[in-house]
Amino acid sequence: MRTVVAKFGGTSLADAGQFRKIRQIIAQDPDRRFVVASAPGKRFDGDVKVTDLLLACCDAAASGGDFEPALTAVKARFEAIAGELALRFSLEGEIDALRRHLSAGPERAFVASRGEYLCARLLAEYLGFTFVDPEWCVCFDAGGALDMPMTLRTMGAALRPLQNAVIAGFYGADMRGRIHTLPRGGSDVTGSLAAAAIRADLYENWTDVSGLLAADPRIVDGARTVKYVSYRELRTLSYMGASVLHTDAVMPVSDQGIPINIRNTDKPGDAGTMIVRRLPEGETKYPIIGVAGQSGMSVIQVEKLMVSDESGFTAVLLDMLKNRQLPFEQCLTGIDTVTLVIRGDLLEPWKEDLFREIREKLKPDYLGLTERQSMIAVIGEKATDACDANVRVLQALAREGVPINTINQGAGKLNLLVGVPEDRYEQAIRAVYAAID
Ligand code: ASP
Repeated sequence: MRTVVAKFGGTSLADAGQFRKIRQIIAQDPDRRFVVASAPGKRFDGDVKVTDLLLACCDAAASGGDFEPALTAVKARFEAIAGELALRFSLEGEIDALRRHLSAGPERAFVASRGEYLCARLLAEYLGFTFVDPEWCVCFDAGGALDMPMTLRTMGAALRPLQNAVIAGFYGADMRGRIHTLPRGGSDVTGSLAAAAIRADLYENWTDVSGLLAADPRIVDGARTVKYVSYRELRTLSYMGASVLHTDAVMPVSDQGIPINIRNTDKPGDAGTMIVRRLPEGETKYPIIGVAGQSGMSVIQVEKLMVSDESGFTAVLLDMLKNRQLPFEQCLTGIDTVTLVIRGDLLEPWKEDLFREIREKLKPDYLGLTERQSMIAVIGEKATDACDANVRVLQALAREGVPINTINQGAGKLNLLVGVPEDRYEQAIRAVYAAID
């Protein structure tokens, strides 16, 4: 028998109707034995996620304000689900306990975690599965950092004897029983940990879209769904701003090569996107899987004649960034020139100070700064197979008259990064997408 871990996100659990869809999805495949639940999310535009209501309770209580309206809204969300599905779980006692905790001086992580806790309790009853509280098996150290090796061991021991279970996402506890939460959207990570802990065959991540799109749909109309993507390609896409799965969710399963399948709860018939270690041969006709980008970049250019013959010039420059804990996105070296791409908001407070030190220590012939740049990433592990891919991308930009300020492709050739002015960003994305599709 195969084992599938199915994680359902906030929109998939937003109301009783969504719970019904989940029950059907689970019933369709008996391999779906372990379910990870988020807290109920938005039901419609302008609605408030349960986690945000809980955080509002916490803020109000901590500042001596009235948390009752937000707590009443939380209670109403869960009562509506439990009422419509005729569940017996006693919400009254749980909400009273939360009220007492809020009055006595709330712990933010504990309060935030109650959305997942209550949602998973209701879903476990509805599916007839065992409820597993991550308080006992998702382990944090005393400083509040996730202890992954310990979690994998403890979770494995907790889940293996069970035929099926619903596990609450997003939180865990340290050795002293204190609750800690993962970052926002962290139920994706819980799902990945559960899949890794029991060495599942597949990690399904059920959400409100039918997979990863090859370009931002707000910019490109009708961007296609990506059928297969490798862990490395996904990492690059997420880094460049495409969001469908929490970035920390890849590591636990990728270590074991467990595939992740992004699926749509509202369209369970759609195959979604498969995130895999290696793309299956011949499975994709697209050597380039997508295009993504980031704006708000600053480009520093340092030039000095004959410096390519000296060693240590770039190292001194990078040390200056390190001493200021200023991360860089790209470092490009050419003949007698070094170019650094840095996030503009991070550079801003250090700009004058850094330039003064560069002038003093490196005595460049030229020191330039170009702000408001966008970096466009054309991503695909198989891009090298399509020798003309880069040519098509650059030609498309030239045809549109988009100036190219930087070009970067390492020997790995996972992605081609092209720097263009921010005000040409959307035009450039559309042109590149049309050229690679
Ligand atoms: N409910 C949490 C959030 O809103 C965690 C999650 O949904 O994954 O961020």
